[in-house]
Amino acid sequence: MAEVTINNSPIHSDSIITALYGETGASWSGIHTGSDFAPYGSTPANPDLYSVCTGVVVDKITYTGTQALGNQIVIQDLVTGYYWRYCHMTNPTPLNIGDNVYTSTKVGVMGATGNVTGIHLHLEYSSVSYWDTTRTKFFNPLTELGIPNQRGTIVHYDGSTPPTPPTPTEKTKKKGWKWQIWHRCKYL
Ligand SMILES: [Zn+2]
Repeated sequence: MAEVTINNSPIHSDSIITALYGETGASWSGIHTGSDFAPYGSTPANPDLYSVCTGVVVDKITYTGTQALGNQIVIQDLVTGYYWRYCHMTNPTPLNIGDNVYTSTKVGVMGATGNVTGIHLHLEYSSVSYWDTTRTKFFNPLTELGIPNQRGTIVHYDGSTPPTPPTPTEKTKKKGWKWQIWHRCKYL
């Protein structure tokens, strides 16, 4: 069985890949447009979900009983410009459109809203922010995350790498400078 350790896993503990991008079958009306992650080992049944990138929230969808993908959040990856969509979350995301996210940012809780067989994360990676009904603008999320494209792969989270800190704002910088002026050497 394949195993991998990454520092930008959507689950900050162990998870397992239960379905692959591009699969076809009775479960889907076209290709499976994302990769499925489920809890593994000592991970709780409904683990928190985290951003896999430094990015910005560009869309959020609240499940009303009809959306196949349940509660969703869409994050634009500021490195690649592409979009990550988290689906089937227990509740609507606590984040808002325009919020900045980092790999330390909780984006929601893994759930089973929408068309599912049970609790899991359906994670999509697309070149467009909307859900492409032609299913031609999706890419394999596992490739982007460096996870082997194999069912049953165990994904470990390496939390030893600190997340990228937010860029200080001008206001913060000025405040710091003010104190640097007053605290200085004397009688040298
Ligand atoms: Zn799925």
